[in-house]
Amino acid sequence: MTFIADKTVGKLVKWLRILGYDTVYWRSEDPQGLLHRARDEGRTLITKDTKLYKDKGSLKALLVQEDNPYLQLQEVVRLFKLPLNKAMLFSRCLICNSQLETVDPSEARGEVPDYIYHTHRTFSRCPSCRKIYWTGTHYEHMAAVVERLQENRS
Ligand SMILES: [Zn+2]
Repeated sequence: MTFIADKTVGKLVKWLRILGYDTVYWRSEDPQGLLHRARDEGRTLITKDTKLYKDKGSLKALLVQEDNPYLQLQEVVRLFKLPLNKAMLFSRCLICNSQLETVDPSEARGEVPDYIYHTHRTFSRCPSCRKIYWTGTHYEHMAAVVERLQENRS
C-alpha cells in the first residue's frame, strides 16, 4: 500500500516512512495536482483537509481525525490494517522517500561523526539525496514507539 499526504499531516508522513511505507509528501498548493498524482500512481490519500477529502471522488482516502502524530499513525494503521514489519522499519529515506541501500561502513567514513563510524557496523544511504543513516539511539526510540503501536492495535 502506498500513500500521498498533504501539509495538514506532515509529521505523519515521516512516521509512515519510518515504518517503510512509500509516502509522497505533497507540499504545493495544487489540490488537483495531488489528486491527479494519487490516481495515476494508485496512492491512498491521507489528509485532514475536509474539502480535499470531499473532492477525492473514487480515490481511496482517509480523513484524519486526530491531531497528535502518534495517534494519527494509530488511526492509519488501524483503518488499513497495515502490517508492521520490523524488516521494513527504516528502509526508506525520511527526507525524500527513496528506498535506502545498505553501504559498506567504509563509505560512511568521513560522512558521519567519527564516534558513530567507530561504534556502528551497519549504515545505509539514500540513493537520491545521499543522506547516510545508521541505527542509533534515535532508532531504538522509534522502534519502541512501533512496538507500542503493535501492542495497541486490536
Ligand atoms: Zn533521501
